[in-house]
Amino acid sequence: MDWNDLDQLEMLADNIIEDPLKEITVDGPGGPVTDTVENIVGQLGMPELGGSYYTFSNENNYMIWQAIKTCHDNGWLYRGADSMPWCPRCATGISQHEIVTDGYEEITHRSVYVKYPLKGREGESILIWTTTPWTLTSNVAVAVGPELDYVKVKMTESGDVFYLAKGATEFLEGDYSILEELKGKDMVGWAYDGPFDELEAQQAPGGWTELKDIIEDIPQSSKEAHQVIPWDEVTGDEGTGIVHIAPGAGAEDFRLGKEFRLPVIAPLDDEGRIVDGFDWLTGTVVHEVTQPIFDNLKEKGLLYKIENYKHRYPICWRCKTELVFRLVDEWFISMDELRPLLMDITKQIQWIPSFGMDRELDWLKNMQDWMISKKRYWGLALPIWECDKCDHWTVIGDDLELKERAVSGYDEFESHTPHRPWVDAVKVGCEKCGGEMTRVPDVGNPWLDAGIVSFSTLSYRQDPDYWNEWYPADWISESFPGQFRNWFYSMLIMGAIIDKSPSFKSNFGYATLLAEDGKEMHKSWGNSIEFNEAADKMGVDVMRWMFSVQNPEQNLLFGYGAAKEIRRRLITLWNVYSFFVTYARLDEFDPATKVKREDFTQLDLWIFSKMDQLVLLAVDSYDNFRVDKFMKRLDRFMEDLSNWYVRRNRRRYWKSENDSDKNAAYYTLYAVLKKLILTLAPVVPFITERIYQNLVRGLEPDAPESIHLNGFPEVNPEDVDEKLIHQMDGVVKVVEMGRHARNRASLKIRQPLEKLQFATDDKKVANAVMANQDQIIEELNVKTVEQVGSYSDLVKRELAPNFATLGEKYGDGVTDVINLLKFLSYDDFEKEIRNSGTIIRSKNEQDYELTREDVIVKNESLEGKSSVTDGDLTVAV
Ligand SMILES: [Zn+2]
Ligand SMILES: [Zn+2]
Repeated sequence: MDWNDLDQLEMLADNIIEDPLKEITVDGPGGPVTDTVENIVGQLGMPELGGSYYTFSNENNYMIWQAIKTCHDNGWLYRGADSMPWCPRCATGISQHEIVTDGYEEITHRSVYVKYPLKGREGESILIWTTTPWTLTSNVAVAVGPELDYVKVKMTESGDVFYLAKGATEFLEGDYSILEELKGKDMVGWAYDGPFDELEAQQAPGGWTELKDIIEDIPQSSKEAHQVIPWDEVTGDEGTGIVHIAPGAGAEDFRLGKEFRLPVIAPLDDEGRIVDGFDWLTGTVVHEVTQPIFDNLKEKGLLYKIENYKHRYPICWRCKTELVFRLVDEWFISMDELRPLLMDITKQIQWIPSFGMDRELDWLKNMQDWMISKKRYWGLALPIWECDKCDHWTVIGDDLELKERAVSGYDEFESHTPHRPWVDAVKVGCEKCGGEMTRVPDVGNPWLDAGIVSFSTLSYRQDPDYWNEWYPADWISESFPGQFRNWFYSMLIMGAIIDKSPSFKSNFGYATLLAEDGKEMHKSWGNSIEFNEAADKMGVDVMRWMFSVQNPEQNLLFGYGAAKEIRRRLITLWNVYSFFVTYARLDEFDPATKVKREDFTQLDLWIFSKMDQLVLLAVDSYDNFRVDKFMKRLDRFMEDLSNWYVRRNRRRYWKSENDSDKNAAYYTLYAVLKKLILTLAPVVPFITERIYQNLVRGLEPDAPESIHLNGFPEVNPEDVDEKLIHQMDGVVKVVEMGRHARNRASLKIRQPLEKLQFATDDKKVANAVMANQDQIIEELNVKTVEQVGSYSDLVKRELAPNFATLGEKYGDGVTDVINLLKFLSYDDFEKEIRNSGTIIRSKNEQDYELTREDVIVKNESLEGKSSVTDGDLTVAV
């Protein structure tokens, strides 16, 4: 069957709802496959049904089982408790990298300032501030920055005495006087009364959580534990500089709680309702308790102030509900041992652009352990079985091991895929006590599926030779902001766990595609272009060119304007080709006719070398996944080919006699065109095929049937005549600059001029220009070409300071530099810079060292001349 066919998939879905055990027959690549609907679904993406990847296929599931088993064997898998981001609507934990990528929104919350009365200090309170009032019910401690400055203030009107950070007094209302200044560390150990000490949860030893393991050796209740603790992370920038700590309701809080062995109160169930033990709050929903809690605090006289607070707050990436922190037991892969291996693997991968590697390494450095479980009913069944009698748990590595270790329920499971409810029927024998073990209800984090493809889809378990042949992937790609924390990361982890190797060789993380106006594409903004529409209107070759020429580090502005520009280039290629075909046909050119080396002109040899140089660059660019570098150079090459080579040679094709010179011209253009389309074929496969069929297949009947059946052109770097390229490029450049100089002075090319003058320090270019002066004379419509001895004969040059670099280097000293530059001639500057790289001058007993970047050279035409300067070449008309 075609597993990408939605109708077929819907047929499967309908059948599985009706009866998963119903037998059906579908087409597979090797013939019909008959099985239960459920098992057909379990084989989607596998060789027997065709396709490549389906997350809930059996192979995918069992491969993940094996990876988790490997983690267990290495001691990396553990059951942890953590206070973690939780979506009460989806009733599921959200892992750290899901939030980092997609999970924040600007939200305004009502924050509250609350008084915590200090024990043994009558009338004195510490002030805390929170944006999550529901966590106040579970307060255990408060934290201060030990080295931070705090103040003790007395409110003039009420007489209340408060402690708060010295830098945080702005929020206080009314007059006050400062009674004392102190450090945070002076307050450490102070005990206080919590705002909800009357609750049962506050009075239980160890705290209030179903996860008894984590509090079993904590004797104090939360109420007894209330105290000020030190925490270096506290700053005076937000709130009061005194942080309320609820270890059962915040990630940092949980860690601090562990460090100080504080009790833990976990107030929420999986749907975000407050659990038993919270009196009038029990059964209420977390997002609805804000006002009742404010009212209650007010009644108790503990509420100081309510204030709206706008901040970036984590939300569920799936349903956009605001997340809460909830204490849960989850399964984790410890990163302590894997981290160095992951970083090493990351360095073995080619990251394009290269800063991708820094991003990945930065994440690997800072990431916490990987939470692989999810509290859901359906999904990858985590292969962890837990003893019903003792506390032992174990991991099953695949279907075979499950069969082997099953003590009951295997019959019930046997004909099914490894999903709930069937897989849960299987009981496994406990190695510790001989009891029965039941699977934990958790399912796997979907990123496990994303990471496993390099193994599951390449038959790692079934056909190691096949896997060996294709692993690792050559290339994976995803646009920025990228999958550094999800897909790339999970692929790195699976490669590390299973094979200690990179599961991909290179990673291409390109920037984003935006509309031509630089905005995101939105239907409602009218700037979005559907793929099909673009393909129809601009043509797929144009689209491919647009993507290929794009520097992957920058956003691609996609649209018809850019397409037009590219179409112009394709037309240039087409024109050169059609020029050739028109005349070659007339003259019955045959590429098999031999050309003697001496029949080639300098220009022929030049364009050959230019072409070969382009091929070498193309090979390097394709190999390194930076096609844009080749495509950018191609622009220049097309210019040289059409605007110089073909134009300068037209008469060779036009002349009436069929001599060896004409044949050499044909041969050259044919060879270059052929190489050019072969080099370009991967980027624009359609237009190059069209040209190939007519051009190459027309002239060489034995040529391969399609351009795409040809090998890539091979070039020996030694055949590239760099010297000739340098010289002829110089000539082309002089002409281009001469035209520019004419334009500047509005001197139309029709109007003959006396001379073109040029100055250069490059002797080779100078000689080439003089040797080719007849071409220059013709191109620029001048009578003579003349080399002058000094740039100053053509142009007036002044040196000006580059404030951007100098300001940074010398600050106020820039004034001195300006004065120094006034007495420095351009010629001296150029000479010294060229000799020693820098220029050193002193002024006001200070040495100033100037580089080329520090000085801007301003070129001004001399009276009666129009000049243009580019690097070490100046021309004037
Ligand atoms: Zn949700
Ligand atoms: Zn047991």
